Amino acid sequence: MYRGDASLFIDGETVYSREGTTQGDPLAMSIYGIAILPLIQKLQGLYKQLRFADDASAGGKITQLKDWWTRMQSLGPSFGYHPNPLKTWLLAKEQHLDTAKEVFEDCDIHITSTGQRHLGSALGSDSFLRDFVATKISSWVDELENFSEVAKTEPQAAYAALTHGLIVRWTYFMRTTPGISDHMAPLEEVLRHKFIPAITGRKTVTNEERQLLALPCRNGGLGIIDPTCQCNLQYDASVEVTAPLVELIMEQKNAISIDVEIEQKKRKSRLKANRLKEVEEKVNSLTLPETLERAAKLISDKGASNWLTALPLERHGFVLHKGAFRDALCLRYGWMPKKLLTKCECGSAFSINHALNCPNGTFPILRHNEVRDFTGKLLAEVCPDVILEPDLQPLEGESLDFASANHEDNARADIRARGFWGGNRQCVFFDVKVFNPNAQSYRRSSLESCFRHEENTKKRKYEQRIIEVEHGSFTPLVFSTSGGMGNLASTFYKRLASLLSEKRREAYSSTLGWIRTHLSFSLLRSAIMCVRRARSSIKHVVKGCDSFDLVVAEAHIHESQ
Ligand SMILES: [Zn+2]
Repeated sequence: MYRGDASLFIDGETVYSREGTTQGDPLAMSIYGIAILPLIQKLQGLYKQLRFADDASAGGKITQLKDWWTRMQSLGPSFGYHPNPLKTWLLAKEQHLDTAKEVFEDCDIHITSTGQRHLGSALGSDSFLRDFVATKISSWVDELENFSEVAKTEPQAAYAALTHGLIVRWTYFMRTTPGISDHMAPLEEVLRHKFIPAITGRKTVTNEERQLLALPCRNGGLGIIDPTCQCNLQYDASVEVTAPLVELIMEQKNAISIDVEIEQKKRKSRLKANRLKEVEEKVNSLTLPETLERAAKLISDKGASNWLTALPLERHGFVLHKGAFRDALCLRYGWMPKKLLTKCECGSAFSINHALNCPNGTFPILRHNEVRDFTGKLLAEVCPDVILEPDLQPLEGESLDFASANHEDNARADIRARGFWGGNRQCVFFDVKVFNPNAQSYRRSSLESCFRHEENTKKRKYEQRIIEVEHGSFTPLVFSTSGGMGNLASTFYKRLASLLSEKRREAYSSTLGWIRTHLSFSLLRSAIMCVRRARSSIKHVVKGCDSFDLVVAEAHIHESQ
């Protein structure tokens, strides 16, 4: 960041940034804090000071505040701090307003007894706060109405802007301003009746569906919170986590002790644990129709929601056009996509389930090959002798125990790599399977037992032959069409991420996050291709990747462990 001068573009001219920290440098706040600390210490007095970055405030008696203001003006400039009276407000109680005006007569600051905005929230009388909240929320309602219009043509972009942008701003406000639950109702109205219909392409959502969509993505929701329910939770949590800091401010301590940090961490993890428990209880308390309940279980699988939570960035291959995004949501929730074919090429009646199961046509093969090629490419970075579709040696009298074992002369696995599980020279063979957990035979089984069944079927087919004839080992890579993966595949990709991150000197968690996100997009796009057949044009292209860390940071991918 500091290798060259950063260019700042101001009024059509370029100015080079040559001193101080560059905008966006995460260290900037700390360095600024260190630089401003001596001034704060010099200003200590009978009043109480509070600072956030370059915003300074103080509370106390009027004459004390005058003293603070005068000293800050005289001392500030020698520290590079220039207080601006025109941007400064004095908030006085009604009965002290005249005194305040008298004492600050020679200063150009604003004086009020009603209220003033402060660090993203506000201080002042009840009626001032009510107006402040109402104005703020009404501007958000307008904004959300516009987003709902955009969502009609760009649902994925609008959804990302809501979950990565708007909601984050709402949350900040909820954390700093108490008692706004009722005010949030108009926002929820627009979310429910305009925004959600626009991104899903469905006219209405039921109460149960709305509650499901409010859950985090990894719990089967879409992370579209119901702001009326969130306000008090967020505010109470914020009060609890910041209490140790508030105490320091009240005592005007100059340093944060390690105890305070530890205490805050403790409180945060306690809140997080409580929240997880609440979400779990919420999930269990929802009475959903059977298809939706099954769908919600399938998508709670780790990594299955990464296509939803990654920012839609074209350069990383994470963009879905409007039809694909809505199809993806339909597949996620078991809803019927619009304008499906009526008949499959094989002659059967068409349905999502049939589309995902039908062995005819090229789509199941495409789906399987995408995962195989993606995995093979990554393996080739860290293992020698990676081969796609390696032939297995023909059997010459060896007997295999399982009737379902592959006895054929021209048998093949999907991938072979050397030394994957350790430093030895042993070959590991992999075979990929993508199955539909909603197929008739699986409908009554839990997801875990579906995965186990598919893994065992693959093992019976290949394992003995590979161990005894090839002297290698075998790992089945089993995926569900809804984006989850089996235990063995999960262990495999963790190991692959660990090898890749070591080789490339990048964080393990971003490497795994990157892999899971691409697998999630790949499976999703293949599923859409199965449903839309030849009319679909959305093969997942994995763009070459120089840095997993960079992609994960840019696309806000939730890092996985
Ligand atoms: Zn068919």
